[in-house]
Amino acid sequence: MSLDVQPQVSLKAFNSFGIDVRAQLFAEAHSDADVREALAYAAAQQLPLLVIGGGSNLLLTQDIAALVLRMATRGIRVLHDDGQQVLVEAEAGEAWHPFVLWTLEQGFSGLENLSLIPGTVGAAPMQNIGAYGVEIKDVFAGLTALDRQTGELRDFSLQECNFAYRDSLFKHEVGRWLILRVRFALNRVAHLKLGYGPVQQRLAEQGITQATPSDVSRAICSIRSEKLPDPAVLGNAGSFFKNPLVSQVLAAQLQLQYPDLVAYPQADGQVKLAAGWLIDKAGWKGFRDGDAGVHRLQALVLVNYGAATGLEISSLAQRIQRDIAERFQVDLEMEPNRY
Ligand code: FAD
Ligand code: NAP
Repeated sequence: MSLDVQPQVSLKAFNSFGIDVRAQLFAEAHSDADVREALAYAAAQQLPLLVIGGGSNLLLTQDIAALVLRMATRGIRVLHDDGQQVLVEAEAGEAWHPFVLWTLEQGFSGLENLSLIPGTVGAAPMQNIGAYGVEIKDVFAGLTALDRQTGELRDFSLQECNFAYRDSLFKHEVGRWLILRVRFALNRVAHLKLGYGPVQQRLAEQGITQATPSDVSRAICSIRSEKLPDPAVLGNAGSFFKNPLVSQVLAAQLQLQYPDLVAYPQADGQVKLAAGWLIDKAGWKGFRDGDAGVHRLQALVLVNYGAATGLEISSLAQRIQRDIAERFQVDLEMEPNRY
């Protein structure tokens, strides 16, 4: 057996909130064979298996009575290159941001707007990660997953993943699909998306008129570093709530009451509200209760000042949800995966 299974392992270092709970069993997978061995081991112990990547989208509220399997598989390969379009495949355990940088170094564009997102390649399809107007569905070319129910491998096409705003099939069929590797259709000729928020402005400030994909990546890294707390310094899981989609009627009512409401009409007729704006407007920005708090610069980010438990973070989140529902008649949905 090559899998190194350890009992009673603290997960503090394995979740970006830095919450100190224990895994009953813990192992790292370095190959497909390790993954299969871990599934067999967990079954023999009559324990569930919880797969994690970088732990940057988790809220751990209790000790985990499972075999926690951290994906540590490595490998990036170019499957096809016609001089314009490139098909790249990466193993699930590859760290996301270094992978993005690798694609840019090769001269491949498409992932630049998704720079500096923590976590792994394998988790990226879970919530169809997105930032600055790009989601992975925009460059997605397929993935291979292990069906934990049958032990068979299955390739998924773009259509089969049911990607939507911070959502996918994999979020709904929890515990069934273990993503092993993901493929991306990238481009040697850049089609940059600069129309989002402060990206264009940041490039202009830097005196860049003809931006390259790497320029865009650097600009986004600099914006993100200013706004978002570094989990290595202050525990957090990024945006704690999804931006709510509401009806045009409710958005119009709110706009009358709050002329500075941040709202983005969607193609399907709904309106996306900036959850961070709602939470800020309600006065939560910078709020702290014990070691659980709302970040002082970005109200959408809940933080752990050191020794907060997952339940304390969760209780703060629920207080915010109730308040936002009362003030604005808007339901906020949690983004991180809660265990
Ligand atoms: P984990 O947190 O380890 O796991 C997340 C979920 O995926 C869990 O349910 C887990 O069981 C499952 N999972 C993990 N790996 C696999 C696998 N191989 N197969 C099947 N299931 C798996 N997200 C965005 O979309 N956009 C952002 O801009 C963004 N910015 C962030 C900034 C900060 C500072 C932080 C802390 C987080 C941010 N996030 C953002 C959230 C997070 O980084 C992403 O959701 C990321 O994809 C999570 O990857 P992970 O490897 O850490 O997943
Ligand atoms: P921001 O630029 O301050 O904008 C606030 C919100 O308004 C964003 O959440 C964004 O929604 C929306 N928005 C802004 N410009 C938009 C446009 N032109 N069209 C449509 N919607 C627009 O946001 P931020 O907090 O600094 O984050 C910047 C980007 O990184 C966002 O895309 C955000 O989603 C992403 N991010 C995600 C996480 C996470 O954990 N999920 C953490 C940090 C940052 P969208 O979120 O739908 O883009």
